Amino acid sequence: MSSATEKDRRGLVIVHTGDGKGKTTAALGLALRAVGNGMPVLMIQFIKGKWKTGEREAAKAFGSLLEIHAMGEGFTWDTKDVERDKRKVREGWDFMTAKVAGGGYRMLILDEINYVLSYDYIPVEEVLGFLRDRPPALHVVLTGRNAPPALIEAADLVTEMLDIKHPFNEEGLAAQRGIEF
Ligand code: ATP
Ligand code: MG
Repeated sequence: MSSATEKDRRGLVIVHTGDGKGKTTAALGLALRAVGNGMPVLMIQFIKGKWKTGEREAAKAFGSLLEIHAMGEGFTWDTKDVERDKRKVREGWDFMTAKVAGGGYRMLILDEINYVLSYDYIPVEEVLGFLRDRPPALHVVLTGRNAPPALIEAADLVTEMLDIKHPFNEEGLAAQRGIEF
């Protein structure tokens, strides 16, 4: 068996969806694997949680190889101002496309982008257009529940996390350090 040659190298479109836990953490696992191979990773979090997350702190240890930016704070939790939310999401998207156009990244993680799509704050056609026109070697990971069918169709690899049990639902257990943030 011959080893992978340059022509076998292709950026994949990967979708993590479903109701079970693990969509974002599996994306972070891929990021860890990529940076270990010296491949620069850009992660954009379209929903910013209320906590200082372990991943944002850990990214510092990898220097410029792992960049994590949180965008759209307040989005979905505070829908009092839809126009503001839309503007925030658009800012995040434009920031991301400019970064990618600047070159150098080998993996892009669009965390919770599926929420953005379900609210139609960015049209799915625009995301599909971006995926088509992206640098060919760039892996893109898109996470979030309810991935739209058109995105699933366009993707190379799709995994649905299946919720069997979660301590929040079973026991009303609060988010645990190191597990949820
Ligand atoms: P994680 O970031 O832990 O991988 P996720 O990306 O799969 O989770 P999200 O939809 O982004 O899931 O929700 C994030 C938060 O919701 C996390 O705190 C996670 O533990 C929690 N969560 C995920 N799935 C469930 C579930 N089925 N029931 C209750 N809470 C959940
Ligand atoms: Mg998530």
